Amino acid sequence: MLYQKPKGTRDTFGKELKRIEAVCRTARSFFEKNGYQEIQTPTFEYADLFIRSIGEHTDIVEKENYTFKIGKRVYMLRPEGTAPVLRAIIENKIPLPCRLLYIEPMYRKERPQKGRYREFLQIGIELIGEGEPMYDAEIIEQGKRFLESIGADGFTIEVNSIGCPNCRSLYKETLKDFLKPRTNKLCPNCIVRVDKNFLRIFDCKEEKCQKIYDAAPKITENLCDNCAQHYATVKGFLGKFGIKYTENKKLVRGLDYYTRTVFEFKHHLLGAQNTILAGGRYDLLMKELGDEDTPALGWAMGVDRMLITLPAEHPRVTERKKFFVATIGEGLITETTKLRNILQENNYVCIMGNPKDSIKRQLKKANRLHVDHTIIYGEDEARLKMCSIKNMESGKQEQIALIDFSDFLKKL
Ligand SMILES: [Zn+2]
Ligand SMILES: [Zn+2]
Repeated sequence: MLYQKPKGTRDTFGKELKRIEAVCRTARSFFEKNGYQEIQTPTFEYADLFIRSIGEHTDIVEKENYTFKIGKRVYMLRPEGTAPVLRAIIENKIPLPCRLLYIEPMYRKERPQKGRYREFLQIGIELIGEGEPMYDAEIIEQGKRFLESIGADGFTIEVNSIGCPNCRSLYKETLKDFLKPRTNKLCPNCIVRVDKNFLRIFDCKEEKCQKIYDAAPKITENLCDNCAQHYATVKGFLGKFGIKYTENKKLVRGLDYYTRTVFEFKHHLLGAQNTILAGGRYDLLMKELGDEDTPALGWAMGVDRMLITLPAEHPRVTERKKFFVATIGEGLITETTKLRNILQENNYVCIMGNPKDSIKRQLKKANRLHVDHTIIYGEDEARLKMCSIKNMESGKQEQIALIDFSDFLKKL
């Protein structure tokens, strides 16, 4: 093989691509009904946008992004959807509150593993300009209903609150006091994170660190009154929406811009990296990107990972019946194209045979193409104003008058 696709990428075709398209189609229709409009942003942005919004010390910015330089400017392939969407809202002066949906590939240079690619498709929603806790619960509810609408089940929902800068700075001291006598038991990553991005320590995959964090004071127990009230109300609404969830006090998000509510949908089929949908509130991000103080929330779902968890019969993919039209001699081609057009008007697939080939040879090709029916239109059929239709599975052949062809198709 002379050429191979780059590591961590993949080619998608056939049934798999149809499943992905069915998920995207359902997303467009589901979220449109919930007031969301689709938005598409560039595949690459100026790198500053992501460095500013995601935070300098997150994994994405430190080692997982694709950047390139043209002239003096540094660009980055989009590693996530929120920062570009917010940038677009500010730049295009999109009126608030607004609800936006994106379905776009993202790019991260992480180690490839099951369901994780370096180019991966995300479906995400952003609800900008709503600060009330009801909306935190609502976007979680919409994530759940959307997943159910494509046939997903068996996922669990975890929620947490990571507070605002006020409660977080107080909590940071409490946590540091707790960790100080235990620093020598932490992994090197966590020791760095405590200073740079302290909430992220809870994301550590090392068991020895997690044992310590199990006993550590949690942000959720150290919220300021406003944040505690907000979180309690979110949980109240989740109950009213009939959502089953668990509270995970160690749940934090990898990106710096989150405030208050964070949540993840997890699925046991995915092993250790078991998140299929994740999001929360990021009330600081619009201001960080240069706009006014504006509450915002949203989530993103990795389509590839989600599909691993989905039963094979979901989402339902419709296969059109396939026809092959065989004719002998170029003289009949005008008539056979008419048959092809009628087939396609009735939403069937139709492939034309080469009129120079024998019928036997054309039938062989029809077999290779796995068509359901082959229509034979030779000189005999033309004289009788009919066509022969061969069912490729049963081998049964029948003759239909051309005048009845449309009616015959409707009864198939
Ligand atoms: Zn707070
Ligand atoms: Zn650690």
